[in-house]
Amino acid sequence: MYQNKGQFDSCFLATKDTMYDFQSTQIDLSERGFENDAKSPFLLESKTVKLYDYHDIPYFLRGNPYVTSGYRAFLSFRMCTKSLFLLSNESVNIWSHLVAFFYFFYLLVVDNLVRIPENNGTFSDHVVLTSLLIGYMISMFFSSCYHLFCCHSEKVFHLWLSLDLAGISLGLCACYIPAVYYAFYCHVTWQGIYLSGVVLITFISLAFQFHPSFLTSRWASRRLLLFCSLVAYGVVPSLHWVLLLGGWNDYSVRLFIPKVAVMYMLGVLALGFYALKVPERYFPGKLNYVGSSHQWWHLFIVLAYCWWYRSNVIYMKYRLKYECAGFNELTSSELPFDFL
Ligand SMILES: [Zn+2]
Repeated sequence: MYQNKGQFDSCFLATKDTMYDFQSTQIDLSERGFENDAKSPFLLESKTVKLYDYHDIPYFLRGNPYVTSGYRAFLSFRMCTKSLFLLSNESVNIWSHLVAFFYFFYLLVVDNLVRIPENNGTFSDHVVLTSLLIGYMISMFFSSCYHLFCCHSEKVFHLWLSLDLAGISLGLCACYIPAVYYAFYCHVTWQGIYLSGVVLITFISLAFQFHPSFLTSRWASRRLLLFCSLVAYGVVPSLHWVLLLGGWNDYSVRLFIPKVAVMYMLGVLALGFYALKVPERYFPGKLNYVGSSHQWWHLFIVLAYCWWYRSNVIYMKYRLKYECAGFNELTSSELPFDFL
């Protein structure tokens, strides 16, 4: 019934066989990966949310053959929204990031109204922590919407996929803002240089992602290069920060380096689940609704974001209390063990 156009993996590291034309406004069955068959069950006018097996969905929704069932397909926007309250194989993906979106919003309010004033924070503290949480919220919101509306049509699928990927870039870039700000708290020139670098890589990554060729196979290596560059950018200021503060002798280096290491570990774990499609690869059809790799990827992304937020709040408290005092200037009674 459907045309064999090849598989499309919704992974940003994967390839797409055909180039999507964003200018096209015509949506017909063939464009959705189907032959123009009046008996097709995939109608936008459907009043119920049907769940389909892997081999019954159009090619653009196929990405993981180990998730064999529970797929929604070709729902109107209204029915997509309604499916929020029905169990499908996207339910955990949608809700995990939707709940996280509201949690980060809650933190945004509490930080600005209570936590930062309580610690005698300045306007800059408000700006950097707010930037971090807004970056997280955009990332969570776009991801939830992508998983909610991807079953509408191919055009909508690609639009939200682009926004989902842009959200990941924004979330990554936002992670650098408070980290650079507090790491170079006492080196204002370097602080300015690295923060400008963060703004620059944010704009470059967005310009890349909204290019019409971004999701095509020709750009597969550029996509990989872009996301690797965003993560690798952190290595330069991190090494510079350790050297500038005098290495392991500085208390904030001792405090923060293990937190950076845990952050990278969570990222590697998240990517491992995502790329290897474990554990469902070993239990095909058994983890269709709960427990598949994409759900673990979502969970580890939220954990990494929470960990990084918490680490930056600790660093903020440290800077607001001790400012630029070096390790040797702190007496043993002043050592901020309570920050751990
Ligand atoms: Zn996702």
